[in-house]
Amino acid sequence: MESALSLSVSDWKKVLEGWDERTFYAQVLFSWLHGKRAVSFDEMTNVPKKLREKLALAYGIDQAAILTVQKSADGTQKYLLGLSDGKAIECVLMKYRFGYSLCISSQAGCRMGCRFCASTLKGLDRNLTRAEMLLQVYTVEQEAKVKVSHIVVMGCGEPFDNYEEVMGFLRLVHDEKGKGLSYRNLTVSTCGLIDKIRDFADQDLPVTLAISLHAPNDEVRLKIMRIARAVSMDELLEACRYYIEKTNRRITFEYLLIDHVNDSPQQAAELTDRLKDLLCHVNLIPVNAVPECGFLRPSEERIRQFMKVLEDNHIPVSRRREMGREIDAACGQLRFRKS
Ligand code: SAH
Repeated sequence: MESALSLSVSDWKKVLEGWDERTFYAQVLFSWLHGKRAVSFDEMTNVPKKLREKLALAYGIDQAAILTVQKSADGTQKYLLGLSDGKAIECVLMKYRFGYSLCISSQAGCRMGCRFCASTLKGLDRNLTRAEMLLQVYTVEQEAKVKVSHIVVMGCGEPFDNYEEVMGFLRLVHDEKGKGLSYRNLTVSTCGLIDKIRDFADQDLPVTLAISLHAPNDEVRLKIMRIARAVSMDELLEACRYYIEKTNRRITFEYLLIDHVNDSPQQAAELTDRLKDLLCHVNLIPVNAVPECGFLRPSEERIRQFMKVLEDNHIPVSRRREMGREIDAACGQLRFRKS
């Protein structure tokens, strides 16, 4: 059965037109599903009964089962959700001063093959639908009794490897009749699929783009990220430059710090050289060691040194506040252990 949560207001209009029903109900249906979070068509008392019956025969309203919730002392909560076909996916709720941020998955598994990442250890299972991305938001909000104010598409999966669904999700979650999140409160992170970066730039949505760079040059990037075989740093940074010119928006470069792999002061200097003329921000993330991958977190001293080189060279840099370390909150860790 088709998923009712996947349809936008204009999709509903087309369906209703095709059924010779009043298109007026498109907005009404959308509000019930995404505003009031109805779980059955029966609840939609201002929709004629006949139409509700027709809808219930053609559409299902997705729901997710909560398989596990892990809470850490800092308030971070990690959810393992079960989808209708039995697949398990993860999302992480984090509490900040500005509100609640939810990190959602875009795929079950991942095929990008980054060597430090647990999400990719068993490859790609399948893409998630836009409805399944929304469902992570709706399920967590209901369970935790909070309103999520920011969403980062940084959980399992490569969002740009599931581009159409992710774009559909961003538009749905932005719709004011639904969750109504400002695009500025949404972030999408990619390991660097350049055609999609360019397309994303052309869409000109004020969504934050984050790039998982993790290396100052191709040699190091090749050691840790398989995408580097297909896309060189030059090509990646060229696509980033296109994005910045087109949108006038700052890119966030994520840089995992891995002990004695990419964390020396010389490598920081090289990174500075590569980024110095770009409108960007660097977010340093000490690697969350995944024992299966064998990479270690650098010492505090090395982290500080690395950061200082960037600061001294006036590259805007921050260090990611680490949350939920004791609950395996790095991408894919929970899903991996439970499967
Ligand atoms: N595929 C996308 C989004 C998912 S990964 C991407 O690559 O950006 C989200 C972020 O978590 C990426 O920056 C990724 O490199 C990082 N990450 C993966 N494994 C990690 C680990 N073990 N410790 C810390 N961060 C990790």
